[in-house]
Amino acid sequence: MQKLVSANPALAKQPDFRSIMELRSLDVIATRIWFDRRVATRYPANVLSGFETTAGATFFNLNDLQDEYRNEPGTVISADFYHANSLLPLSDQEIVDRVVSHVATCEPGFKGAKVTDSIVLRFPKAVTHFSPGSYQHRPFQATTIPNVFMAGDWVKGVPHGANGLSQERAYVTGLSAANLVISRLDRGGQPAQILDVEPDEPHIAAARAAVRGLREVAAAAGLRSPFL
Ligand SMILES: Cc1cc2nc3c(=O)[nH]c(=O)nc-3n(C[C@H](O)[C@H](O)[C@H](O)COP(=O)(O)OP(=O)(O)OC[C@H]3O[C@@H](n4cnc5c(N)ncnc54)[C@H](O)[C@@H]3O)c2cc1C
Repeated sequence: MQKLVSANPALAKQPDFRSIMELRSLDVIATRIWFDRRVATRYPANVLSGFETTAGATFFNLNDLQDEYRNEPGTVISADFYHANSLLPLSDQEIVDRVVSHVATCEPGFKGAKVTDSIVLRFPKAVTHFSPGSYQHRPFQATTIPNVFMAGDWVKGVPHGANGLSQERAYVTGLSAANLVISRLDRGGQPAQILDVEPDEPHIAAARAAVRGLREVAAAAGLRSPFL
């Protein structure tokens, strides 16, 4: 989007589009690894936290999650590094070795398994850095150009329980952007139904209420914190 704003004088004139230039982005690495045997994992979706100093990661057991791999003779996993900036220069083999070592620490069954195939993809500056202070620069769904609507996980101001950095948020804002187009064109068309998320569990609801209360107290005292 920043390249589009830079390259397009019509967008560059608009303050809301220029504000997008203030957002920072992060590098991502996506891997897929095939093993010579089936290794059961406790959970199909997992977070790898604390293994890399600056990068977080997730790994998924694709035999459990995707029909394509359900009957595969060996285990197939995907593992993605988020904020992978300092890992990008490593070779594919070094990255695969790291993934296997991290995964084997969580699931010791991988210690005896051999890698039979792998893919490593690098995506420099591919995702929005949802860092403190970035909210003010994220776009609203409706823009200063009346027939341009924004969608994606970075859009703010869409009152829905699916919040930033999630596929749900991207999906919901896509549907609501399409609904805004239908309404602007006013030529009929069936708006998409957008389901809300289930209500928060009691402890989450209590934590949210506490944060709201702190925000109000801080605002009354004239304090502004990006963390609140
Ligand atoms: C490592 C990692 C793990 C994640 N894990 C999860 C998870 O477990 N669950 C979850 O819900 N979310 C997860 N997320 C977040 C999720 O992937 C994003 O929130 C979601 O993909 C955002 O969707 P989007 O459509 O807003 O943007 P994107 O998915 O980034 O889509 C934008 C698309 O636009 C294309 N594009 C860019 N520029 C142009 C151009 N000029 N012309 C045409 N096309 C262009 C890009 O190629 C891209 O395909 C994860 C993200 C990362 C990085």
